[in-house]
Amino acid sequence: GHAHPAQQPEKPLVPGVRAIVAVASGKGGVGKSTTATNLALGLAANGLRVGLLDADIYGPSMPRMMGISGRPTSRDGKVLEPMENYGVKVMSMGFLVAEDTPMIWRGPMVMSALQQMLRDVNWGELDVLVVDMPPGTGDAQLTMAQQVPLAGAVIVSTPQDIALLDARKGLNMFRKVDVPVLGIIENMSYFCCPNCGHRTDVFSHGGAKREAERLGAEFLGEIPLDIVIRETSDAGTPVVVATPESEHAKVYRRIAARV
Ligand code: ADP
Repeated sequence: GHAHPAQQPEKPLVPGVRAIVAVASGKGGVGKSTTATNLALGLAANGLRVGLLDADIYGPSMPRMMGISGRPTSRDGKVLEPMENYGVKVMSMGFLVAEDTPMIWRGPMVMSALQQMLRDVNWGELDVLVVDMPPGTGDAQLTMAQQVPLAGAVIVSTPQDIALLDARKGLNMFRKVDVPVLGIIENMSYFCCPNCGHRTDVFSHGGAKREAERLGAEFLGEIPLDIVIRETSDAGTPVVVATPESEHAKVYRRIAARV
């Protein structure tokens, strides 16, 4: 049978952090990091104390998306102070290595780096720590799901069949290690032409909702494909903070309220 988490002693809590929520996707490029960032900012906008841990070691994007540069400091040479912007505390491998340096690490090194970013960072008192997981369902993801005391996981998928297949794998991975799946978000759900308003379902539409129903998981909401979401993220001012009154910002905040 499968190892049961109750029998694993290696899941110590992170002091001061009330809940750790993973944002995951079955494959790369579906907008997992964009969603994790706007979700974290949405949680903060809803009045929670929020941290954001970029566990995407091989492709860290939080420094850029959160508009943070510079290096974390340490008071005692052991514990790092997290960086901060928009009221959210952030830690990312991107703060520790140059942007164009490839991480050529094997699994065990990645795991120890993740453990350090989780436990050797002065997160302080947080209501929720959002973890932007690496894409996929490989060894690193599984170990992460097993060793980090996750309160739950949110799965991001595009509506496409192939992405949904991978999302299902991700969901099953969390269920296997008894991490509650909080729900599925459909990203790039549809596209509205800014010029004529015509709607196109670029990657199909509604697949994530159907998949959620099929799998008995919550459907948390849909986010359209919109150049504003991409541009604001690239500029380091994600849409939730760039235009808090916009429809996009409201959608992210609504989803954050359900997580
Ligand atoms: P992942 O973390 O899954 O690899 P990213 O969040 O890095 O994906 O997103 C991949 C690219 O797609 C980025 O350039 C991002 O700005 C863009 N993107 C993500 N979601 C949206 C969206 N809803 N509308 C427009 N662009 C998006």
